[in-house]
Amino acid sequence: MNDEPVYVTRPYLPPLEDLLPYLEQIWASRQLTNGGPFHERLEWALCEYLGVEHISLFANGTLALVTALQALRVTGEVITTPYSFVATAHSLLWNGIKPVFVDIDPETFNLDPAKIEAAISPQTTAILPVHVYGRSCDTGKIQKIADTYGLKVIYDAAHAFGVEDEGGSILRHGDLSILSFHATKVFTTFEGGAIVSPDEKTKRRIDYLKNFGFADEVTVVAPGINGKMNEFQAAVGLVQLKRMEGVLAERKAIDGRYRKLLSDIPGIYCPQLPQSKLHNYSYFPILVGSDYFLSRDRLYARLRENGFYARRYFYPLISEFPMYRALPSARAANLPVASSISNQVIALPIYPGLPDSVQNMLANLIRN
Ligand SMILES: *Cc1c(COP(=O)(O)O)cnc(C)c1O
Repeated sequence: MNDEPVYVTRPYLPPLEDLLPYLEQIWASRQLTNGGPFHERLEWALCEYLGVEHISLFANGTLALVTALQALRVTGEVITTPYSFVATAHSLLWNGIKPVFVDIDPETFNLDPAKIEAAISPQTTAILPVHVYGRSCDTGKIQKIADTYGLKVIYDAAHAFGVEDEGGSILRHGDLSILSFHATKVFTTFEGGAIVSPDEKTKRRIDYLKNFGFADEVTVVAPGINGKMNEFQAAVGLVQLKRMEGVLAERKAIDGRYRKLLSDIPGIYCPQLPQSKLHNYSYFPILVGSDYFLSRDRLYARLRENGFYARRYFYPLISEFPMYRALPSARAANLPVASSISNQVIALPIYPGLPDSVQNMLANLIRN
Protein backbone atom coordinates (compact mmCIF):
# COMPACT_ATOMS: atom_id res chain seq x y z
CA MET A 1 0.00 0.00 0.00
CA ASN A 2 1.34 3.43 -0.91
CA ASP A 3 1.03 6.34 1.50
CA GLU A 4 0.24 9.23 -0.83
CA PRO A 5 -2.26 9.15 -3.68
CA VAL A 6 -0.55 8.62 -7.04
CA TYR A 7 -2.12 10.41 -9.99
CA VAL A 8 -1.75 9.61 -13.66
CA THR A 9 0.38 12.70 -14.05
CA ARG A 10 2.03 15.23 -11.78
CA PRO A 11 3.00 18.69 -12.98
CA TYR A 12 6.77 19.07 -13.19
CA LEU A 13 7.61 22.46 -11.72
CA PRO A 14 10.91 24.31 -12.00
CA PRO A 15 12.73 25.32 -8.79
CA LEU A 16 11.16 28.62 -7.71
CA GLU A 17 14.62 30.27 -7.72
CA ASP A 18 14.86 29.69 -11.45
CA LEU A 19 11.60 31.51 -12.06
CA LEU A 20 12.17 34.48 -9.73
CA PRO A 21 14.47 36.51 -12.02
CA TYR A 22 11.81 36.32 -14.72
CA LEU A 23 9.10 37.46 -12.33
CA GLU A 24 11.28 40.37 -11.19
CA GLN A 25 11.59 41.50 -14.81
CA ILE A 26 7.84 41.29 -15.34
CA TRP A 27 7.20 43.28 -12.16
CA ALA A 28 9.81 45.90 -13.14
CA SER A 29 8.64 46.33 -16.74
CA ARG A 30 4.92 46.15 -15.94
CA GLN A 31 4.51 44.40 -19.28
CA LEU A 32 2.14 41.62 -18.36
CA THR A 33 0.68 40.48 -21.68
CA ASN A 34 -0.01 41.54 -25.32
CA GLY A 35 3.13 40.08 -26.85
CA GLY A 36 5.77 41.11 -24.31
CA PRO A 37 9.45 40.16 -24.36
CA PHE A 38 9.03 36.70 -22.79
CA HIS A 39 6.20 35.87 -25.18
CA GLU A 40 8.51 36.71 -28.10
CA ARG A 41 11.42 34.79 -26.60
CA LEU A 42 9.30 31.69 -26.01
CA GLU A 43 8.07 31.71 -29.61
CA TRP A 44 11.67 31.74 -30.83
CA ALA A 45 12.84 29.18 -28.29
CA LEU A 46 10.01 26.78 -29.17
CA CYS A 47 10.66 27.13 -32.90
CA GLU A 48 14.26 26.19 -32.28
CA TYR A 49 13.53 23.38 -29.83
CA LEU A 50 10.78 21.81 -31.93
CA GLY A 51 12.44 22.43 -35.28
CA VAL A 52 9.57 24.41 -36.83
CA GLU A 53 9.51 27.89 -38.38
CA HIS A 54 6.35 29.63 -37.19
CA ILE A 55 4.59 29.38 -33.84
CA SER A 56 1.76 31.43 -32.32
CA LEU A 57 1.33 31.10 -28.56
CA PHE A 58 -2.12 30.81 -26.98
CA ALA A 59 -3.72 31.01 -23.55
CA ASN A 60 -4.66 27.32 -23.89
CA GLY A 61 -4.86 24.54 -26.45
CA THR A 62 -8.62 24.69 -26.92
CA LEU A 63 -8.54 28.34 -28.01
CA ALA A 64 -5.72 27.36 -30.38
CA LEU A 65 -7.94 24.64 -31.91
CA VAL A 66 -10.94 26.96 -32.24
CA THR A 67 -8.76 29.67 -33.82
CA ALA A 68 -7.02 27.27 -36.22
CA LEU A 69 -10.40 26.31 -37.69
CA GLN A 70 -11.29 30.01 -38.02
CA ALA A 71 -7.95 30.83 -39.62
CA LEU A 72 -8.51 28.29 -42.41
CA ARG A 73 -12.22 29.21 -42.72
CA VAL A 74 -13.23 25.60 -42.15
CA THR A 75 -17.01 25.07 -42.41
CA GLY A 76 -19.58 22.33 -43.02
CA GLU A 77 -18.36 18.89 -41.95
CA VAL A 78 -15.00 17.82 -40.55
CA ILE A 79 -13.76 14.26 -40.22
CA THR A 80 -12.31 13.52 -36.81
CA THR A 81 -11.65 10.79 -34.25
CA PRO A 82 -13.88 9.78 -31.34
CA TYR A 83 -10.80 8.55 -29.44
CA SER A 84 -9.45 11.78 -27.94
CA PHE A 85 -9.98 14.39 -25.28
CA VAL A 86 -13.37 16.05 -25.71
CA ALA A 87 -11.88 19.45 -26.68
CA THR A 88 -11.02 18.07 -30.13
CA ALA A 89 -14.68 17.79 -31.17
CA HIS A 90 -15.85 20.72 -29.02
CA SER A 91 -13.66 23.03 -31.13
CA LEU A 92 -15.79 22.04 -34.13
CA LEU A 93 -19.11 22.75 -32.38
CA TRP A 94 -17.77 26.16 -31.26
CA ASN A 95 -17.31 26.91 -34.96
CA GLY A 96 -20.73 25.62 -35.98
CA ILE A 97 -19.09 22.68 -37.75
CA LYS A 98 -20.53 19.15 -37.79
CA PRO A 99 -18.09 16.48 -36.59
CA VAL A 100 -18.06 13.24 -38.59
CA PHE A 101 -16.50 10.46 -36.54
CA VAL A 102 -14.33 7.87 -38.25
CA ASP A 103 -12.95 4.74 -36.57
CA ILE A 104 -9.34 4.35 -35.40
CA ASP A 105 -6.50 2.02 -36.28
CA PRO A 106 -6.06 -0.79 -33.70
CA GLU A 107 -2.26 -0.41 -33.63
CA THR A 108 -1.81 3.37 -33.44
CA PHE A 109 -5.20 4.35 -31.90
CA ASN A 110 -5.26 7.17 -34.47
CA LEU A 111 -7.78 7.92 -37.23
CA ASP A 112 -7.72 4.97 -39.67
CA PRO A 113 -6.86 6.42 -43.10
CA ALA A 114 -8.53 3.46 -44.83
CA LYS A 115 -11.89 4.55 -43.40
CA ILE A 116 -11.71 8.27 -44.13
CA GLU A 117 -12.80 8.32 -47.79
CA ALA A 118 -16.14 6.64 -47.11
CA ALA A 119 -17.01 9.46 -44.66
CA ILE A 120 -16.33 12.32 -47.09
CA SER A 121 -19.43 14.20 -48.28
CA PRO A 122 -19.90 17.34 -50.42
CA GLN A 123 -19.95 19.30 -47.13
CA THR A 124 -16.58 17.98 -45.93
CA THR A 125 -13.91 20.70 -45.82
CA ALA A 126 -11.24 19.34 -43.49
CA ILE A 127 -9.79 16.45 -41.48
CA LEU A 128 -8.95 16.91 -37.78
CA PRO A 129 -6.81 13.95 -36.69
CA VAL A 130 -5.13 13.57 -33.27
CA HIS A 131 -1.63 12.18 -32.63
CA VAL A 132 -2.98 10.19 -29.67
CA TYR A 133 -0.47 9.56 -26.81
CA GLY A 134 2.09 11.33 -29.03
CA ARG A 135 2.05 8.48 -31.58
CA SER A 136 2.16 9.89 -35.08
CA CYS A 137 -0.83 9.54 -37.38
CA ASP A 138 -0.23 8.10 -40.84
CA THR A 139 0.46 11.61 -42.10
CA GLY A 140 1.37 10.48 -45.63
CA LYS A 141 -1.91 8.68 -46.28
CA ILE A 142 -3.97 11.43 -44.67
CA GLN A 143 -2.31 14.11 -46.83
CA LYS A 144 -2.90 12.05 -49.95
CA ILE A 145 -6.63 11.84 -49.23
CA ALA A 146 -6.73 15.57 -48.38
CA ASP A 147 -5.00 16.43 -51.66
CA THR A 148 -7.33 14.21 -53.69
CA TYR A 149 -10.49 15.73 -52.20
CA GLY A 150 -9.22 19.28 -51.64
CA LEU A 151 -9.48 19.14 -47.84
CA LYS A 152 -7.53 21.00 -45.14
CA VAL A 153 -5.74 19.01 -42.45
CA ILE A 154 -5.42 20.34 -38.90
CA TYR A 155 -3.57 18.09 -36.47
CA ASP A 156 -4.52 18.12 -32.81
CA ALA A 157 -0.95 17.56 -31.61
CA ALA A 158 -1.76 18.28 -27.94
CA HIS A 159 0.06 15.03 -26.97
CA ALA A 160 2.88 15.33 -29.49
CA PHE A 161 5.26 17.94 -28.08
CA GLY A 162 8.77 17.16 -29.32
CA VAL A 163 7.82 14.04 -31.28
CA GLU A 164 9.75 13.43 -34.51
CA ASP A 165 9.51 11.07 -37.45
CA GLU A 166 12.20 10.31 -40.03
CA GLY A 167 11.77 13.76 -41.61
CA GLY A 168 11.84 15.83 -38.40
CA SER A 169 9.11 17.31 -36.18
CA ILE A 170 5.70 15.77 -36.82
CA LEU A 171 4.27 19.26 -36.30
CA ARG A 172 5.29 20.13 -39.87
CA HIS A 173 2.51 17.95 -41.32
CA GLY A 174 -0.88 19.19 -42.51
CA ASP A 175 -1.97 22.81 -42.83
CA LEU A 176 -1.67 23.55 -39.10
CA SER A 177 -0.80 21.71 -35.88
CA ILE A 178 -2.06 22.55 -32.41
CA LEU A 179 -0.21 22.07 -29.12
CA SER A 180 -1.45 22.18 -25.52
CA PHE A 181 0.73 23.24 -22.59
CA HIS A 182 -1.85 22.34 -19.93
CA ALA A 183 -0.61 21.25 -16.50
CA THR A 184 -1.14 17.58 -17.45
CA LYS A 185 1.00 17.73 -20.59
CA VAL A 186 4.70 16.89 -21.13
CA PHE A 187 5.63 20.57 -21.47
CA THR A 188 3.51 22.96 -19.41
CA THR A 189 2.98 26.68 -18.89
CA PHE A 190 0.19 25.90 -16.34
CA GLU A 191 -2.37 26.67 -19.07
CA GLY A 192 -1.17 27.32 -22.59
CA GLY A 193 -1.13 26.24 -26.18
CA ALA A 194 0.18 27.04 -29.64
CA ILE A 195 -0.44 26.80 -33.36
CA VAL A 196 2.36 25.76 -35.68
CA SER A 197 2.01 27.45 -39.10
CA PRO A 198 3.77 26.62 -42.37
CA ASP A 199 4.43 30.23 -43.37
CA GLU A 200 4.66 33.79 -42.10
CA LYS A 201 1.41 34.87 -43.77
CA THR A 202 -0.64 32.23 -41.97
CA LYS A 203 1.04 32.99 -38.66
CA ARG A 204 0.22 36.69 -39.06
CA ARG A 205 -3.46 35.94 -39.64
CA ILE A 206 -3.53 33.68 -36.59
CA ASP A 207 -1.84 36.38 -34.50
CA TYR A 208 -4.58 38.84 -35.52
CA LEU A 209 -7.29 36.32 -34.70
CA LYS A 210 -5.95 35.62 -31.20
CA ASN A 211 -5.93 39.37 -30.45
CA PHE A 212 -9.56 40.32 -31.27
CA GLY A 213 -8.66 40.67 -34.95
CA PHE A 214 -6.44 43.74 -34.44
CA ALA A 215 -3.95 44.22 -37.29
CA ASP A 216 -2.84 47.58 -35.85
CA GLU A 217 -4.13 50.13 -33.38
CA VAL A 218 -7.12 51.17 -35.50
CA THR A 219 -7.66 48.22 -37.85
CA VAL A 220 -9.76 45.17 -36.97
CA VAL A 221 -9.68 42.62 -39.79
CA ALA A 222 -11.75 39.78 -38.32
CA PRO A 223 -14.02 38.95 -35.38
CA GLY A 224 -11.10 37.57 -33.39
CA ILE A 225 -11.00 36.14 -29.89
CA ASN A 226 -8.81 36.84 -26.87
CA GLY A 227 -6.48 33.86 -27.03
CA LYS A 228 -3.24 35.53 -25.96
CA MET A 229 -0.63 33.89 -23.75
CA ASN A 230 0.54 36.20 -20.95
CA GLU A 231 4.08 36.99 -19.78
CA PHE A 232 3.88 34.82 -16.67
CA GLN A 233 2.97 31.76 -18.74
CA ALA A 234 5.74 32.54 -21.23
CA ALA A 235 8.30 32.88 -18.42
CA VAL A 236 7.27 29.50 -16.99
CA GLY A 237 7.66 28.05 -20.49
CA LEU A 238 11.19 29.45 -20.92
CA VAL A 239 12.29 27.93 -17.61
CA GLN A 240 10.63 24.57 -18.35
CA LEU A 241 12.12 24.32 -21.81
CA LYS A 242 15.65 24.22 -20.39
CA ARG A 243 14.77 21.03 -18.53
CA MET A 244 13.08 19.08 -21.31
CA GLU A 245 16.01 16.78 -21.96
CA GLY A 246 15.88 15.46 -18.39
CA VAL A 247 12.09 15.19 -18.49
CA LEU A 248 12.15 13.04 -21.61
CA ALA A 249 14.96 10.83 -20.28
CA GLU A 250 13.00 10.16 -17.08
CA ARG A 251 9.80 9.43 -18.98
CA LYS A 252 11.64 7.04 -21.26
CA ALA A 253 13.07 5.16 -18.27
CA ILE A 254 9.62 4.85 -16.66
CA ASP A 255 8.16 3.58 -19.94
CA GLY A 256 10.91 0.96 -20.16
CA ARG A 257 10.42 -0.19 -16.55
CA TYR A 258 6.66 -0.66 -17.03
CA ARG A 259 7.30 -2.76 -20.13
CA LYS A 260 9.62 -5.06 -18.15
CA LEU A 261 7.39 -5.25 -15.08
CA LEU A 262 4.17 -5.97 -17.00
CA SER A 263 5.51 -8.05 -19.89
CA ASP A 264 4.50 -11.50 -18.66
CA ILE A 265 1.12 -10.78 -17.04
CA PRO A 266 -1.57 -12.77 -18.90
CA GLY A 267 -4.21 -10.45 -20.38
CA ILE A 268 -2.23 -7.20 -19.95
CA TYR A 269 -0.91 -5.68 -23.17
CA CYS A 270 1.49 -2.75 -23.50
CA PRO A 271 1.06 -1.33 -27.02
CA GLN A 272 4.44 -1.00 -28.74
CA LEU A 273 5.86 2.40 -29.58
CA PRO A 274 6.36 3.22 -33.26
CA GLN A 275 9.82 2.36 -34.63
CA SER A 276 12.72 4.79 -35.19
CA LYS A 277 11.05 7.92 -33.96
CA LEU A 278 11.85 10.46 -31.28
CA HIS A 279 9.09 9.77 -28.79
CA ASN A 280 7.91 11.87 -25.84
CA TYR A 281 6.52 9.08 -23.61
CA SER A 282 3.59 11.31 -22.71
CA TYR A 283 1.25 8.48 -21.68
CA PHE A 284 1.55 4.81 -20.76
CA PRO A 285 -1.64 3.09 -21.94
CA ILE A 286 -2.22 -0.60 -21.23
CA LEU A 287 -5.00 -2.77 -22.64
CA VAL A 288 -6.81 -5.15 -20.30
CA GLY A 289 -7.80 -8.16 -22.40
CA SER A 290 -10.66 -10.59 -21.84
CA ASP A 291 -8.04 -13.15 -20.77
CA TYR A 292 -7.13 -11.03 -17.72
CA PHE A 293 -8.65 -12.31 -14.46
CA LEU A 294 -10.54 -9.07 -13.79
CA SER A 295 -12.58 -6.78 -16.03
CA ARG A 296 -10.96 -3.47 -16.99
CA ASP A 297 -13.28 -1.58 -14.66
CA ARG A 298 -12.61 -3.96 -11.75
CA LEU A 299 -8.87 -3.45 -12.20
CA TYR A 300 -9.40 0.31 -12.48
CA ALA A 301 -11.42 0.32 -9.24
CA ARG A 302 -8.82 -1.86 -7.54
CA LEU A 303 -6.05 0.55 -8.45
CA ARG A 304 -8.07 3.47 -7.07
CA GLU A 305 -8.84 1.61 -3.85
CA ASN A 306 -5.09 1.35 -3.38
CA GLY A 307 -4.44 5.02 -4.06
CA PHE A 308 -3.39 4.75 -7.72
CA TYR A 309 -5.52 7.18 -9.70
CA ALA A 310 -4.95 5.79 -13.17
CA ARG A 311 -7.30 7.10 -15.87
CA ARG A 312 -9.33 5.48 -18.62
CA TYR A 313 -7.98 7.66 -21.44
CA PHE A 314 -10.12 7.60 -23.57
CA TYR A 315 -13.36 6.37 -22.09
CA PRO A 316 -16.11 7.28 -22.78
CA LEU A 317 -15.52 8.03 -26.46
CA ILE A 318 -16.26 11.63 -27.47
CA SER A 319 -19.05 10.25 -29.68
CA GLU A 320 -20.86 8.96 -26.56
CA PHE A 321 -21.30 12.39 -24.95
CA PRO A 322 -24.83 13.90 -25.17
CA MET A 323 -23.98 16.64 -27.69
CA TYR A 324 -22.55 14.07 -30.14
CA ARG A 325 -24.35 10.76 -29.65
CA ALA A 326 -27.28 11.55 -32.00
CA LEU A 327 -24.95 11.98 -34.99
CA PRO A 328 -25.15 9.08 -37.47
CA SER A 329 -21.35 8.71 -37.36
CA ALA A 330 -21.44 8.38 -33.55
CA ARG A 331 -23.11 4.94 -33.59
CA ALA A 332 -20.99 2.26 -31.93
CA ALA A 333 -21.44 0.08 -35.04
CA ASN A 334 -19.58 2.77 -37.02
CA LEU A 335 -16.72 2.79 -34.48
CA PRO A 336 -16.02 -0.84 -33.52
CA VAL A 337 -12.26 -0.47 -32.96
CA ALA A 338 -12.53 2.75 -30.95
CA SER A 339 -15.33 1.23 -28.85
CA SER A 340 -13.30 -1.89 -28.17
CA ILE A 341 -10.06 -0.05 -27.25
CA SER A 342 -12.01 2.45 -25.13
CA ASN A 343 -13.39 -0.48 -23.10
CA GLN A 344 -9.93 -2.02 -22.53
CA VAL A 345 -7.63 0.91 -21.90
CA ILE A 346 -6.09 2.21 -18.68
CA ALA A 347 -3.44 4.94 -18.68
CA LEU A 348 -0.91 4.32 -15.90
CA PRO A 349 0.92 7.08 -14.00
CA ILE A 350 3.93 8.45 -15.87
CA TYR A 351 5.79 11.63 -14.89
CA PRO A 352 9.28 12.76 -13.89
CA GLY A 353 9.92 11.77 -10.30
CA LEU A 354 7.61 8.73 -10.26
CA PRO A 355 9.49 6.43 -7.86
CA ASP A 356 10.56 2.93 -8.93
CA SER A 357 8.91 1.62 -5.75
CA VAL A 358 5.52 2.97 -6.90
CA GLN A 359 5.94 1.28 -10.28
CA ASN A 360 6.77 -1.98 -8.51
CA MET A 361 3.71 -1.72 -6.24
CA LEU A 362 1.48 -1.00 -9.22
CA ALA A 363 2.85 -3.95 -11.16
CA ASN A 364 2.33 -6.24 -8.16
CA LEU A 365 -1.26 -5.07 -7.79
CA ILE A 366 -1.92 -5.77 -11.46
CA ARG A 367 -0.20 -9.16 -11.29
CA ASN A 368 -1.92 -10.54 -8.17
C1 LIG B 1 -5.24 18.65 -23.52
C2 LIG B 1 -5.88 18.44 -24.83
C3 LIG B 1 -6.56 19.47 -25.51
C4 LIG B 1 -6.93 20.77 -24.88
O1 LIG B 1 -5.91 21.53 -24.44
P1 LIG B 1 -6.11 22.61 -23.29
O2 LIG B 1 -4.77 23.29 -23.28
O3 LIG B 1 -6.40 21.88 -22.02
O4 LIG B 1 -7.21 23.52 -23.69
C5 LIG B 1 -7.02 19.23 -26.79
N1 LIG B 1 -6.86 18.03 -27.38
C6 LIG B 1 -6.25 17.01 -26.75
C7 LIG B 1 -6.09 15.72 -27.47
C8 LIG B 1 -5.76 17.17 -25.45
O5 LIG B 1 -5.21 16.14 -24.81
